[in-house]
Amino acid sequence: MYLSVLGGKNNAQTTKDTKHEGKRSKTLPRELNYWLTTVQMPVPPAQPLPEKVDVAVIGSGFTGLSAALALAKRGAKVAVLESETIGWGASSRNGGMVLSGLKLGVNQLISRYGRELTRRMYAASLESIDAVERLVKEENIACDFARTGHLEVACKQAHFDGYARQVEVIGREFNHSLRVVGRDQLGDEIGSDIYFGGMVDEVSAGVNPARYVSGLAVAAMGAGAPICERARLQNIQRESRNGAPGFRLNSSRGGLWARNVLVGTSGYTGAATPALRRKIIPIGSFIITTEVLPEGLARELSPRNRQIYDSKNYLYYYRLTPDNRMLFGGRAAFFPETDRTIRKSADILRFGMIEVYPLLRSTKVEYVWGGTLDFCFDIMPHAGQIDGLYFAVGYAGHGVAMATYQGQKMAEWIAEGKTDNPFTEIPMPGAPLGLYNGKPWFLPFAGAYYKVLDWVS
Ligand SMILES: Cc1cc2nc3c(=O)[nH]c(=O)nc-3n(C[C@H](O)[C@H](O)[C@H](O)COP(=O)(O)OP(=O)(O)OC[C@H]3O[C@@H](n4cnc5c(N)ncnc54)[C@H](O)[C@@H]3O)c2cc1C
Repeated sequence: MYLSVLGGKNNAQTTKDTKHEGKRSKTLPRELNYWLTTVQMPVPPAQPLPEKVDVAVIGSGFTGLSAALALAKRGAKVAVLESETIGWGASSRNGGMVLSGLKLGVNQLISRYGRELTRRMYAASLESIDAVERLVKEENIACDFARTGHLEVACKQAHFDGYARQVEVIGREFNHSLRVVGRDQLGDEIGSDIYFGGMVDEVSAGVNPARYVSGLAVAAMGAGAPICERARLQNIQRESRNGAPGFRLNSSRGGLWARNVLVGTSGYTGAATPALRRKIIPIGSFIITTEVLPEGLARELSPRNRQIYDSKNYLYYYRLTPDNRMLFGGRAAFFPETDRTIRKSADILRFGMIEVYPLLRSTKVEYVWGGTLDFCFDIMPHAGQIDGLYFAVGYAGHGVAMATYQGQKMAEWIAEGKTDNPFTEIPMPGAPLGLYNGKPWFLPFAGAYYKVLDWVS
């Protein structure tokens, strides 16, 4: 009902990327998101925007769609506005790692927020993986969700030395077991000898993110939440109707009135929500995937099929895809994706991949693409209300599970008027000295800073 033909014109990434087909040579990868070659993204029926809804959801990624689905199931009248096409943002472009924990280490979290709040945030990170698993089962989404576990690998001895303490704290404080893997046993986990050891969490999972976001969209529409593509929110004003407070939304496809608004625009947050935009730093992340590897080679590189990332600030993350390609990602450029940053990233990432896996020296890289992450100034997820609008943002590269969870928690809050979401309880800082209007002029300096930090720490 919602499906287009395979590779249909519905996805703007495809439209943008095919522009470069002419420039392709035998050695250059296609500038195209590999995940999109594995799925038929749903195309919602063309219909006018509803005139009035209980909740307008902005953005059709994991945040927006999991919220829309949960709200529609509770009987709310919902509409999702998406400026491009379903799942166009980070949700279809990511590495598909469904990870436990937060971007910051537990010791830093405890010293910043105290034991109790950190305990609740860490529990939420575990609950978020369960939330993805539950949704996949309940909505019957064929997206290769598998609890393969994740492996963090140490780029320096000092990083490895910190693992034992982290495992001890997480076990004691959060009753959750991780395992330290010494250098001599690391061969059981990864076919690379450049690391000083690793740390494994068996509860993390892998997923095909484009199939997952596509399945969420189908489920949300099936539950009665229309998704309005090519409807870019342009501005919002407060406006009461029949004595009820609410908002007038103007979009590129017309207007509607909503009692409540949930903004789930992540790294793509723009001028329509200026106060939120000033709290978010959009940062580019890029991925390459190789040709399909022979089964034996794939097992040699990743014997347990882990979701792997390293211990640097300027980190690499990598995994096998379900069809045994090596997917290798990183912050090859700090700026969000453009034709130039994507092309540049292909070389940088291939170089990084061969450093980790010299065996892949002559393996063909078939795809390269990029997407935008959202970082808050304290590198934490945040949820709350700003100018009366609900929002959940700040996933910092940990959003597959957390955005799903936040969408559900926001739906619960809007529907029930109360929430126990710990991420609403932490302060959300703005830029130091307020020197930021949403245009991240400082990214080159930040990029250089983190590179230096990786040399010295
Ligand atoms: C390359 C890359 C790799 C990543 N890898 C991982 C990983 O392996 N594991 C992990 O946990 N996380 C990863 N992430 C992060 C994760 O993908 C995101 O945190 C998550 O997808 C955010 O979901 P979201 O729904 O909040 O936002 P998005 O999926 O970005 O969706 C936001 C949507 O809002 C729309 N929008 C913006 N402005 C407007 C407007 N004015 N009107 C209407 N619509 C609008 C956009 O078009 C977009 O579709 C990665 C991200 C990238 C870019």
